[in-house]
Amino acid sequence: MSTPPLIDPFARAITYLRVSVTDRCDFRCVYCMAENMTFLPKKELLTLEELDRMCSAFVRMGVEKLRITGGEPLVRRDIMTFFRSMTRHLESGALKELTVTTNGSQLARFADDLFDAGVRRINVSLDTLDEDKFARVTRWGRLPQVLKGIDAAQKAGLRVKINVVALKGFNEDELFRLTEWCAERDMDLTFIEVMPMGDLGGEDRVGQYWSLKDLRGQLRERYTLTDLDYRTGGPARYVRLEETGQQVGFITPLTHNFCESCNRVRLTCTGELYMCLGQEDMADLRAPLRASESDAPLEDAIRAAIGRKPKGHDFDYSRQRADGQVSRHMSHTGG
Ligand code: SAM
Ligand code: SF4
Repeated sequence: MSTPPLIDPFARAITYLRVSVTDRCDFRCVYCMAENMTFLPKKELLTLEELDRMCSAFVRMGVEKLRITGGEPLVRRDIMTFFRSMTRHLESGALKELTVTTNGSQLARFADDLFDAGVRRINVSLDTLDEDKFARVTRWGRLPQVLKGIDAAQKAGLRVKINVVALKGFNEDELFRLTEWCAERDMDLTFIEVMPMGDLGGEDRVGQYWSLKDLRGQLRERYTLTDLDYRTGGPARYVRLEETGQQVGFITPLTHNFCESCNRVRLTCTGELYMCLGQEDMADLRAPLRASESDAPLEDAIRAAIGRKPKGHDFDYSRQRADGQVSRHMSHTGG
């Protein structure tokens, strides 16, 4: 049973939903969270059944790609039950891809289960290959645990993409080491420009803003970069390094040049739908979900929300100010 597809006012089809399944995390990355975070009371969170209803409604309405994120999605209790419940949409063909963005800490436990549920590709966030630096940037994370997780994922048959947040004065000196490491392990690599998210206290800031234009320039000193046409409808652009054959992505969320092809919306763990990562406007989908056993009110609310999807966002780093700063954390909206 499907309903008409979700088309926003700018004729963009919404086919990609990112879902944050928890605001909690076992790490405290300096650019993402404060060390002593206050997390949401459990009753605020969508239950696993509610997450299923929510995602299934979106799939019925044309969403073909589901990315599970957080917080750290794999620390949510029983989260594999949810992944397994999404398998039916992969099997029916309605859902083309089920994927996850993780810090890797729980992968040694869950890699096989993820593969069995139909996940084929995952993103693992990893900013440094130096143990001390890793502990500094994640505060609570331990590098060997994550490396074990990545091993387990590859062994399970999952294709791994590494996401690196570019931080000047922190991992600038590891640009080539990280690139070579990924090439050796046949993993794709994407650099993310750090975004001005929330108030993180600032006391233990590691590194500073490192523009990906600059990073690209540094890569060009060693490799031949060929621009690729490959697009995902998001803020990523890709090149191939001719010397290694490797694909490298650059995510610059602060530039406007991707908004016209935006195909995605984000659902928070409390059921708020954000139509744009850089805008405050959101729609509460939990109320219509909880108000009725029928999905009709939920579907109406989703359609109304998509009807408000803005043309683009307002981030602006010009004059060294983060003008479009939004107050919520990435762990809330699900980066
Ligand atoms: N815990 C999982 C992880 O770390 O992959 C999933 C959630 S995390 C919020 C998703 C992505 O957002 C990670 O790759 C992380 O590095 C990135 N991220 C968090 N805060 C960011 C910020 N202020 N600027 C840019 N990327 C950020
Ligand atoms: Fe946790 Fe991911 Fe945020 Fe790091 S980036 S604190 S791992 S949610």
